[in-house]
Amino acid sequence: MTAQIIDGLALSRKLRAAFAQDVQALTAQGLQPGLAVILVGNNPASQVYVRNKIKACQEAGIHSVLEQLDATTTQQELLARIAALNADAAIHGILVQLPLPPHIDADAVIEAIAPEKDVDGFHISSAGALMTGLDRGFWPCTPHGCLKMLDDIGYDLRGKHAVVVGRSNIVGKPMAMMLLARSATVTICHSATADLGAMTRQADVLVAAVGKAGLITADMVKPGAIVIDVGMNRNAQGKLCGDVDFEGVRQVAGWITPVPGGVGPMTITMLLANTIAAAKRRLA
Ligand code: NDP
Repeated sequence: MTAQIIDGLALSRKLRAAFAQDVQALTAQGLQPGLAVILVGNNPASQVYVRNKIKACQEAGIHSVLEQLDATTTQQELLARIAALNADAAIHGILVQLPLPPHIDADAVIEAIAPEKDVDGFHISSAGALMTGLDRGFWPCTPHGCLKMLDDIGYDLRGKHAVVVGRSNIVGKPMAMMLLARSATVTICHSATADLGAMTRQADVLVAAVGKAGLITADMVKPGAIVIDVGMNRNAQGKLCGDVDFEGVRQVAGWITPVPGGVGPMTITMLLANTIAAAKRRLA
C-alpha cells in the first residue's frame, strides 16, 4: 500500500475560503486586515514568494502593500520604513522577506517590527511566547502549516515520537516546540546528528526541514509513519522537490506531503491566518 497524500493545496483552498468570509465580516466592521510586505533587493526566489503572498492577500480580501526597496537600501532606511508601518493603523501585519542583503542585520530588523504586527512569528517575543506556552505573539507560518496538516488528518500527537530534522529558528525549532506542546516526544536532528537514519526510523511523525534533495530515503522511514516534507530544492533537472525521496518513501509511509502542493501553500495560508488574527486582536 502506498502512502496517503496530505494535500496542502486542497486544505489551503478550504481554509482560505473560510478566511475570506472572516475578512469580509471584519471589513464590514471597518477593520479590513492589512499586511505590508517589504522586499529588499531583487532575489528572484524572494520575488516569487512575495508575489504569491500579495496575490493570496488579494484573493482573501486582505489589504496588502508591497514595498520594494533597492538592494542598496541602508539598514537605517529600512528601520525607518518599519517604524512608519508600525505606526500605520491600516497595517496589522508586517513581513520582511528574508534573506536580506548582507550589509543589513536581519535580527535587528526583525526586532524592530512591533510584536503585535509580527505575523511571520520571528520576533523574539513571538519565539519566547511559543517556548513558554504563552497565548500571545504569532506562530511561524511554515511549522504552523505543518501542524494544521496533522490536525486535518485527525492525528493525535500525544505520546507519539516526532522527529524533526533541521533546527532553524524559522522551521525546525518552532516545529519542535509546537509538537512538544501537543505532548509528542520530540527529537531534533541537525547536521551533527551522528546517525540520522537511526533517529528517523523511530519517528511516528517525521518532519524534514533541511534543504537537501533526497536526504530522507525509504530505509530511513518507519512503516506507516507520517512524513512532512518542508524542503524546497531544485533537482538535477531543475524541478522543484523536497528533502524526501517521494517515490521511494511513499511505498513505506502511511501519509506523506508532496512537493510542490504540500507545505508550501500552507505557509502562505498561515500567514493570512496570522494577519487576520492580528487585526482581530486590534479589535479586542
Ligand atoms: P536552514 O538552512 O536555516 O536550516 C537547515 C537545517 O538543516 C539546519 O538546522 C542544519 O543543521 C540541518 N541540516 C543540514 N544538513 C543536514 C544533514 N545532512 N542532516 C541533518 N540535518 C541537516 O534552512 P530552513 O530551516 O530555513 O529551511 C529548510 C528547508 O525548508 C529549505 O529547503 C527551505 O527552502 C525550506 N523551506 C520551505 C518553506 C515552505 O514554505 N515550504 C518555508 C521555509 C523553508 P545545522 O543547524 O547543524 O546547520
